[in-house]
Amino acid sequence: MTQFSDLGLAKPLLKALADKGYTQPTPIQAQAIPTVLSGRDLLGIAQTGTGKTAAFALPILHRLAEDRRPAPRRGFRCLVLSPTRELATQIADNFKAYGAHLGLTVATIFGGVKYGPQMKALAAGVDVVVATPGRLMDHLGEKSAHLNGVEIFVLDEADQMLDLGFVVPIRKIASQLPKERQNLFFSATMPSEIGKLAGELLKNPAQVSITPQATTVERIDQSLIFIEAQRKRPLLAELLADRAVERAIVFTRTKRGADRVAKYLVASGIESASIHGDKTQGQRERALAAFKAGQVKALIATDIAARGIDVNDISHVFNYELPNVPEAYVHRIGRTARKGKDGIAISFCADDERPLLKDIQKATRQTIPTFDRRNDKGLAAAAAVADKLAPPEKYVDPRRADPRNNVPSELRRQRNRPNKGGGQGQGHGKPGGQQNRGRNGGGGQGNGQAQAQGQARSGGGDFRGPKRAAAPSERWNPID
Ligand code: AMP
Repeated sequence: MTQFSDLGLAKPLLKALADKGYTQPTPIQAQAIPTVLSGRDLLGIAQTGTGKTAAFALPILHRLAEDRRPAPRRGFRCLVLSPTRELATQIADNFKAYGAHLGLTVATIFGGVKYGPQMKALAAGVDVVVATPGRLMDHLGEKSAHLNGVEIFVLDEADQMLDLGFVVPIRKIASQLPKERQNLFFSATMPSEIGKLAGELLKNPAQVSITPQATTVERIDQSLIFIEAQRKRPLLAELLADRAVERAIVFTRTKRGADRVAKYLVASGIESASIHGDKTQGQRERALAAFKAGQVKALIATDIAARGIDVNDISHVFNYELPNVPEAYVHRIGRTARKGKDGIAISFCADDERPLLKDIQKATRQTIPTFDRRNDKGLAAAAAVADKLAPPEKYVDPRRADPRNNVPSELRRQRNRPNKGGGQGQGHGKPGGQQNRGRNGGGGQGNGQAQAQGQARSGGGDFRGPKRAAAPSERWNPID
């Protein structure tokens, strides 16, 4: 077995790794570290959870420390681009932890916070900057940052960048980078546009591919429950009340959906918080900290907000709504069963989501065991209470939504922000109800009568795309 000490990393890095209790590199680290140390470009196909952050942070820190020189004023020696603030913070924290004994400087640049402190941090020059594209573009425009000193450029979660509409800003940023540089490019999947971008940015790259291991998915106990859309909340509350659920992530397709679910759960006595791009940085950090500390049992998240969040010991993943692309299903359920542990993934499927289920089963070449909780009277009664606690949102046919995951909602602008009112109630939505579990072999079979999805309260759920003529500070910042 390879040890970190076999990889030629500087002593202060080995010390920091020992501090963290890491002795053996993960597969992507064992493959990527020597390549990056050699100065070669790298294309890494890997997702969060594989140890990819250290796979680039360690050799980058090594290279910067070996060839010490001051970063230019308002410039930086290494630029890491991340699609979300959370991931940017996490990456920067990793750089700081691994570089604890090196005395290099690390800064983050992302939206949702004031410019002043970022300008200050950049003024004297920084060794490593971890940035989201929108805010970095703003700094470049304001000349409070420049890219002349970049020696190493990292693009992380490239496919997520594509989903968020960041490809154009990335090309603009790349066009300002010095020609002579090392490029590291990471993506969990390789849609053709990302392949094209990689081709433009990388020079003769080494390739490392750590695909989401089938074994991870195999370790997850997956099931799916057929349920009427309007009864999902009481069903979720019922399942979360189970003591076996220690820490759960609940995935919704929209930000508003996440808020509604969280509000209902809180009213039902289940500690929950939602996390998505409309929340302030402070709210997101507090929700995450409470979740990590175990004060919040359920974190309700959209795909993009949840991406990159590094929380271990998640016992359950709930797909409150099925994702529009099968890959997202694999990503989502992979949030549990990390670090060799087992996990449970439970998905809800309303009648109109059956085509999505079909796609997931086809793509993952598996049949998810299904249960049928439709026509459950206890849930029906609780659903009526749920509607009072947090009114339902306008129904949008998932097949008509943007095919890339939940981009539409994430890109929705401020004018579509949820109403503040919302009818917070004191009611108690604890569902009663029989466990009406009819086990059906394969999924996707449609016996049921189509349930009317009649919901038409809060409007404005349609995708309108990013606002083109936004103020500079607002551009490209659905998340960052
Ligand atoms: P990442 O894929 O970079 O998000 O890393 C996933 C998790 O694995 C993080 O909590 C890391 O701190 C942890 N990790 C990274 N490398 C190692 C390693 N070699 N041994 C044990 N844990 C690690």
